[in-house]
Amino acid sequence: QQNLNWIGRFAPTPSGPLHFGSLVAAVGSYCVARHKNGLWLLRIEDLDPPREVAGAATEILKTLEAFGFEWDREVCYQSKQQNHYRAALEQLENQKVTYRCDCSRKLVLQRNSGVYDSYCRSRALDNGVESATRIRFESGYESFEDRILGKCCFERPADTQDFVVQRRDGLFAYQLAVVVDDIEQNVNHVVRGADILDSTPRQNYLYHCLKVAPPSYYHLPLVVDAQGEKFSKSRFSPSIKCEQASRWLVEALCHLGQKVDQNLISATPPEILDWAITHWRTSDVGTKARVFSALKT
Ligand code: GLU
Repeated sequence: QQNLNWIGRFAPTPSGPLHFGSLVAAVGSYCVARHKNGLWLLRIEDLDPPREVAGAATEILKTLEAFGFEWDREVCYQSKQQNHYRAALEQLENQKVTYRCDCSRKLVLQRNSGVYDSYCRSRALDNGVESATRIRFESGYESFEDRILGKCCFERPADTQDFVVQRRDGLFAYQLAVVVDDIEQNVNHVVRGADILDSTPRQNYLYHCLKVAPPSYYHLPLVVDAQGEKFSKSRFSPSIKCEQASRWLVEALCHLGQKVDQNLISATPPEILDWAITHWRTSDVGTKARVFSALKT
């Protein structure tokens, strides 16, 4: 029986096909949720049209299907959620925790090596000025408890500077969108790659401003290459082939520290996921970034 109070999700950005790093986030979030009989939702983060690759969203859905994933409810598309973001922004504006900022990236770089120095906090630019909207980050949100990493503390100023919630070009920022969507979808367990770890204090601060309790977080170990560099869609990373779904799933489970019998490779993707859900152990995931094994050879 499903536990409707336990809601997790996978939220890929359609800037390219699924890569190994995102498969790991998909497998991790799926197993954590299903092991608890919880719901697993799918959200396509198509927030930023210039970064989107045509057809990538459809391809991601097809790949997930071929890999045996089954999501609950309808797929949520951020491009259709603009009204929710607008309403949340208004709520923040009414609370007077936001301000306008017309500093270019270049200026911020010149002034304070790229870390925003709250320059516009006291300038009170009016709405007519072409500007971004930032939120005043208050102290008290620099640390949180992660279910995998334990206590995470952020003291670098970059993690806690006043951040942008709406860009100068009018697009809503990832930080705001992800929080508004997770609230709207009642997501209460966020399992995702550790590449997003340093966004978490900002997101927790937004939860506070929007008066909603933040979810529990589980940040999964990064996938790195032999040089220790993080895999990302913009760098070389092996593309995930549907014909070899079983092999990739087993790779992802190994990456997540699960004690997989290599014979599992000959099982079908749904059988592998079933096995993984039953045997899932969050305590085996570990905290260290791991080198993608196929790259070691
Ligand atoms: N859309 C983000 C990504 O693809 C994930 C956001 C999240 O899980 O909070 O990296």
